[in-house]
Amino acid sequence: MMSFSRQQGELNIEGCAVSALAERFGTPLYLYSRAAIEQAWRAYDAAFADREHLICYAVKANANLAILQLLAKLGSGFDIVSGGELERVLKAGGQPQKIVFSGVGKSRAEITRALEVGILAFNVESEAELERISEIAQALGKTAAISLRVNPDVDARTHPYISTGLKDNKFGIDIHRAGAVYAHAAQLPGLNITGLDFHIGSQLTEIEPLVDALSRSLALVDRLAEQGIILEHLDIGGGLGIAYQDETPPTPAALATAIKPLLANRPQRILMEPGRAIVGEAGLLVTQVEYIKTGHRDFAIVDAAMTDLLRPALYDAWQRIETVDAGQGEARFYDIVGPVCETADVLGRERHLALAPHSLLAVFDAGAYGFAMASQYNARPRAAEVLVDGNQAHIIRHRESLESLWQGEVLLEPS
Ligand SMILES: *Cc1c(COP(=O)(O)O)cnc(C)c1O
Repeated sequence: MMSFSRQQGELNIEGCAVSALAERFGTPLYLYSRAAIEQAWRAYDAAFADREHLICYAVKANANLAILQLLAKLGSGFDIVSGGELERVLKAGGQPQKIVFSGVGKSRAEITRALEVGILAFNVESEAELERISEIAQALGKTAAISLRVNPDVDARTHPYISTGLKDNKFGIDIHRAGAVYAHAAQLPGLNITGLDFHIGSQLTEIEPLVDALSRSLALVDRLAEQGIILEHLDIGGGLGIAYQDETPPTPAALATAIKPLLANRPQRILMEPGRAIVGEAGLLVTQVEYIKTGHRDFAIVDAAMTDLLRPALYDAWQRIETVDAGQGEARFYDIVGPVCETADVLGRERHLALAPHSLLAVFDAGAYGFAMASQYNARPRAAEVLVDGNQAHIIRHRESLESLWQGEVLLEPS
């Protein structure tokens, strides 16, 4: 990724020295490369340029308004999973008619609002949801465009927590029952059946499960056509992985090459919902060493924690960690841990690094599911976020204040 480079050993993001940004904005600090985000989005767009298509960025990967805004400006659509994400997209200037709404638990209020603003489609995950959407649409005198999220029962071969396309998962409608559910949908008032979608999991490193899911879905599309149900779009979900370590995930171009033969002579518009593949590699988490503690194991205790970057604690995920400078003194194997009172509060284990007290560290590939999963556990204000554009650095979220920690809370009596 060209957005990150070293000059005389010093890490740069685009035209800015990471150490200077850490000095200016403090740590822990999220840094994103605008060029990297745009390049990743355009790679997807270019891969499907010869077909009618819409890239619906999965907002949950990184929902910062500035990032949504820059994607909206590129022409992106959005895949949302809550009413909160809907409002974020609208606030950032996203167009309602480019929004698909996924998620297993859409509330009445969320469905109502989505119908009022006029989204592209609901990705419906159950029959009960179908009935709820029909009822609300009818009451509002609107028609809801719906797509059924089918569960194609394929093994995405990724971490069990981020695998969603097996029949044991809570997601989607069993593909073997989907024909009957479509037939039911066709009978319900207030609905317009426009599509079919699936999303089989995240951090996929192989194409075959996606190709499998698509070909099972296309067989269903053909059966539906025989029932007189003609679909306008096919949504192949998100899930392409990024190279955290030594994975070699398929590129969008490879994905397009693999699936286009299956889609030949099919008129449907292709939708996709990438999240991680758009923003993952564009982000760094910068953190400073607070203490070095040596003994049976060597620990570098840093000012970032699982509250800033949860993936290592939640999924035992590995992310590359390097010093921001060229390194100081002799390298040793350190466990990089945060200040939170949890044994799981680890950013990386046994990392060979040349550290001094106060060294700055960069955790790479932190643009997706990084800040988005941050919390205030242990009463830690959340980090600042900065978007780097050439030699300009834009603050896109201020570091939280201490007051923000108890915002909305109410004392029982004046203190
Ligand atoms: C999480 C999610 C995505 C995005 O997944 P990535 O692995 O980040 O590309 C897309 N669609 C749905 C329905 C999701 O839940």
